[in-house]
Amino acid sequence: MTKISPKIALHDKVFEVYLEESQIEKRIADMADQISKDYEGKRPLFLSILNGSFMFAASLLKKLQIDSEISFVKVASYQGTETTGDHTELIGLNEDISNRHILILEDIVDTGLTIQSLKRMLTDQNPASLEVTTLFSKPEALQVDLMLKYVGFEIPKYFVVGFGMDYNGLGRNLSSVYKISD
Ligand code: 5GP
Ligand code: MG
Repeated sequence: MTKISPKIALHDKVFEVYLEESQIEKRIADMADQISKDYEGKRPLFLSILNGSFMFAASLLKKLQIDSEISFVKVASYQGTETTGDHTELIGLNEDISNRHILILEDIVDTGLTIQSLKRMLTDQNPASLEVTTLFSKPEALQVDLMLKYVGFEIPKYFVVGFGMDYNGLGRNLSSVYKISD
C-alpha cells in the first residue's frame, strides 16, 4: 500500500487524513456483501452519479457477487427564473428503467436536495424499486426527508475530499479521504 501524507494542500486549503483507504475499502466490502444478499436474482441497475461517485462505483462493483449493470449519469442543476424556480436535469440516462431495480450511487449526501430531485425524476419512469447507496452522508446537514438505504459512513458537517470527491477540481484521485484542516 502506498504511504499516505497526513496533510496535503489543494489550492488555498490544507486537508488532513480522515479515513484511510483500507478502512474505506473494508466498509465498501461490507456494503457489497449486503447488497449482494438483498438483490440476489434481481439484476440491479446502478446509476452512478458523476463525477464524484466514479471511484466508489468502481470499488463497489468489483466487490459484488451478483449480476448487475451500471450506467453513468450527471445531474445538472441550474437556477430557473422566478416563476419556474430551481431545476435539476438528468443527463446521460439511455436505459429504460421501467420495472428495473435501481440503485443510485452517490459519493456524499449533504442537504439531500440533489438526491431528492433525482428520485422524483426517476420515479416518474416507474422503476420496480429505487434506493440510494452513498459512501458518505452528513445527517446534520440533511434538509429533506430522505431514506438512504445503504450508507458507508455518517460524518459531521466536514468538507471532505478524495476517493472521487474534489475541491475545485483537485483531490479526486486521492485514495484516502481528507477533511479540511482548521
Ligand atoms: P446535496 O444536494 O446533498 O446538498 O449535495 C450533494 C453533492 O454536493 C454531492 O454529490 C457532492 O458532489 C457535493 N458535496 C457535498 N458535500 C461535499 C463535501 O464534503 N465534499 C465534496 N467534495 N463535495 C461535497
Ligand atoms: Mg456528487
